[in-house]
Amino acid sequence: MSKNNSSEEVILDGIAASAGVAHGRAVVYLQKQLDVPCYDIPEAKIDAELGRFEQAILETRSEITKIRDTIANSLGEGEARIFDAHLLVLEDNALLDEVSSELRSTQKNIEFCFNQVSQRYIAFFRSMEDEYLRERVSDIRDVSRRLLHNLIGMQSVNLGQLATESIIISEDISPSDAADLDRNKLLGFVTDAGGKTSHSVIMARSLRIPAVVGTHDATKRIVSGDNILVDGYEGIIVINPSESRLFKYGKLASERRKRDATFNSFIAEPAQTEDGGSIRLMANIEGIQEMEQVKAMHAEGVGLFRTEGIFLRHHGYPPESVQYKEYRAVVEAAEKDPVIIRTLDVGGDKLIGDENVKEDNSFMGFRAIRFCLSNVDIFKTQLRAILRASAHGNVKIMYPMISGLEELKAANLILGEVKQELLDKGMAFDQLIEVGAMVEVPSAAIIVDLLAAETDFLSIGTNDLIQYLIAVDRLNDEVAHLYDPAHPAVLRTMKAIIDGGNAVGTPVSICGEIAGDPIYAGILLGMGADSLSLTPGLLPEVKYFIRHIKKSEAEALVEEVMRIGDSAEIVRKLEAFRKQALGNLA
Ligand code: PEP
Ligand code: MG
Repeated sequence: MSKNNSSEEVILDGIAASAGVAHGRAVVYLQKQLDVPCYDIPEAKIDAELGRFEQAILETRSEITKIRDTIANSLGEGEARIFDAHLLVLEDNALLDEVSSELRSTQKNIEFCFNQVSQRYIAFFRSMEDEYLRERVSDIRDVSRRLLHNLIGMQSVNLGQLATESIIISEDISPSDAADLDRNKLLGFVTDAGGKTSHSVIMARSLRIPAVVGTHDATKRIVSGDNILVDGYEGIIVINPSESRLFKYGKLASERRKRDATFNSFIAEPAQTEDGGSIRLMANIEGIQEMEQVKAMHAEGVGLFRTEGIFLRHHGYPPESVQYKEYRAVVEAAEKDPVIIRTLDVGGDKLIGDENVKEDNSFMGFRAIRFCLSNVDIFKTQLRAILRASAHGNVKIMYPMISGLEELKAANLILGEVKQELLDKGMAFDQLIEVGAMVEVPSAAIIVDLLAAETDFLSIGTNDLIQYLIAVDRLNDEVAHLYDPAHPAVLRTMKAIIDGGNAVGTPVSICGEIAGDPIYAGILLGMGADSLSLTPGLLPEVKYFIRHIKKSEAEALVEEVMRIGDSAEIVRKLEAFRKQALGNLA
């Protein structure tokens, strides 16, 4: 029964994370830690315990078969194959026999025995040399989790298969949960934790799903079945919205549609200022599924292909053939436009497979290029797939989270080895492929002259750069108010990076979330950025804005704001500039 069953409106506040309004039924998703009980089983109950195990296997098998069929129908047999591997785990007699001997010898409950055996299997496969066998770890882990859920009798919402159109309310949504989300039925999401640049929010924004995050306690105040409205523009949630409020939001939606139609009417025009200045507008994507929109938005290529999406969707490290197919599809869809493929940025809030585990200070930890330089096989597999895709179009490689020249050189050395291996095998690739680095760690910003001299291009990742410069975790809602792109230290650092690149003719792009916000797009143009790479859905507004300003004015604005020390004052100036350009569309 709903906690909020009176018809009174209740308003909760959070952080506006992904624009739009959603109205519908709430589904509360709690990621309960699996707490596996341990207790003694008397001899006489051993058969009954085995019966429970068989029942749980049947339930698990029928769940997996259902998911498998749905995926095969919607995404094709190739994508569904992973679930065949899951079914095989359930048919593995060696594993099942070991569970029953564990039960007989220890006389502990079946979920405990099963968990013990599956953990032993995971440890065994993880230590294998063979890449294929190592990949079985994630299959066993996924199946074990599902089976344990069925044994312990926990009700869990399946984010990949929502029964009806729903708004998900969760403590947090991890990028791997987000990769599984049922895009047809998900109306919006609300989380207790999180900041504006968490990777789940970035995914929501690219799917144009309204989201409010950082509410602290939405999961405690909303229950499944509540009628709620999520306002992703203002960052509020209304439980039991009144008729008059729904009417007001209906009007807002129709105004937004008109505004979007005006922006869209300029979409095929060049991104050029009134005085002839120009900036390249490119797209941030996570996979081939976004390329149709990239083309529709007239993006001039892909400025950031976050390849983690492929890994998260596969719940592990997909083989070269799978990666190659996906990269090649994107490159071919882009036609002759550039596609900047970023090598794996695993870690932080993006956890994949067993080589990569949750750490205390995960954003400062074993992440991105650090992970790849220590897992050379995974890195080489990806580089081979990217290089092979480069034979089919205009591909560039970009390394994430470079913190010093040594890392850049080490990555290039491995790239050189992979190129040589392909040459030896007579395989085609672009031998002059351009290689760039993200500038998102303060140390990289400080040595931008050195990095610019060693790279073909640089791209500023402001999502990370801001968190590292201001020491404010991008996921932590308690400090989200300090996450400030208009902080003078952020503006000075961005300007120094752009100046450093321009001094030696190395183009500098911006691919963090601020590139999609007109209040920052103007000064980035004024600072001399070569391109902006943004979520495709935000491109029409940014292009309209660029077409309604003068580059000289943007440069003057940069000069003005660089002299201001107070970030609120800076935001007022930037807002005023935006309003002047957008007029009544602001
Ligand atoms: C960034 O840090 O700004 C960026 C684009 O990379 P990501 O958001 O994937 O960390
Ligand atoms: Mg980053």
